[in-house]
Amino acid sequence: MTFRPRYTGLIDRYRDRLPIHDDTRIISLGEGNTPLIRLNNIPSQLGKDVDIYVKYEGLNPTGSFKDRGMCMAVTKAVEEGSKAIICASTGNTSAAAAAYAARAGVTAFVLIPEGKIALGKLAQAMIHGAVVIQIKGNFDEGMQLVKDVAEEAPVTIVNSINPFRLQGQKTAAFEILEELGAAPDYHCIPVGNAGNITAHWMGYKEYHEHGIVNSLPKMVGYQASGAAPFMRGEMVDNPETVATAIRIGHPQSWDKAWVVNKESQGWFDECSDEEILAAQKLLTSQEGIFCEPASATSLAGAMRDIKSGKIEEGSKIVCTLTGHGLKDPDTAIKQCEGDDGMITVDATLEQVKKAILDNMS
Ligand SMILES: *Cc1c(COP(=O)(O)O)cnc(C)c1O
Repeated sequence: MTFRPRYTGLIDRYRDRLPIHDDTRIISLGEGNTPLIRLNNIPSQLGKDVDIYVKYEGLNPTGSFKDRGMCMAVTKAVEEGSKAIICASTGNTSAAAAAYAARAGVTAFVLIPEGKIALGKLAQAMIHGAVVIQIKGNFDEGMQLVKDVAEEAPVTIVNSINPFRLQGQKTAAFEILEELGAAPDYHCIPVGNAGNITAHWMGYKEYHEHGIVNSLPKMVGYQASGAAPFMRGEMVDNPETVATAIRIGHPQSWDKAWVVNKESQGWFDECSDEEILAAQKLLTSQEGIFCEPASATSLAGAMRDIKSGKIEEGSKIVCTLTGHGLKDPDTAIKQCEGDDGMITVDATLEQVKKAILDNMS
């Protein structure tokens, strides 16, 4: 038996690559260190010789990659003496803010768009004791309100405009590089505010500049068609998509993401809601991996670009699965309506046996 030190989160692991002092009080829930899972079945179904890995960020403590950034943002807010944090959120940022605020003993205020947040995320914000402010407006309006109110009230913004968020999130790229030993050829990622694509590129470049690896990926950002400002080339005022986590029309990291696009020689593209939901279901049914709709956008886009040959055969591809499928049970159940997965029978041996024999594949 060899003993390994207990994993205590990404700040401890990457301390010398993060703006942390020796005596900083670390607010951590053991985030990071998520699995990079190689897809076994989907690549052959595509009929293409490609290697696809998914980085399952849904296995972070609150179920999304937001924890990587939030541990840094809350750690720094507490270090600076802040007693309250605030964010606008499509859901996952509020869940992470609520949890890390509870851990730190500070108050979290979260602004969410009324009726447009997945049930699991709302449950998290509430049970962790955040002050949930529903606004009769969308994320973009909430974000503007947060910026305005932070000028007048003693609260620290923990949206991805907080630079410590991106510092924390860049560690996902470190983990990928350490496990693959080199950069993938393509990194496919869902894009909302574009903080995460920016953070990943920071991480990839940092290891490259320090000579830890000698390759860089092309960064490919996929948006939902109803919320695709990077495809339209301008802000979108009334974004709509089933992928509520990326229902964003005014990305906060607009300029940064265009730099990523150019430097990495990648591209942006869009996926319809149907493609996104199909990819979510494919992952659950063919690979046993359950991510939320927004997360499946990375695989939906990658599959299309693999099929068309834009992503060449022989490529190694990483798709980020940003959040856990349990975040949005309503959409998952709706996805299965009309399937014959649920059968109601009498509580008798005869009927249960018949249900089994009729459904053996
Ligand atoms: C926040 C989030 C995104 C979008 O990330 P950005 O950094 O805003 O581009 C995508 N998927 C999920 C599940 C998210 O929570």
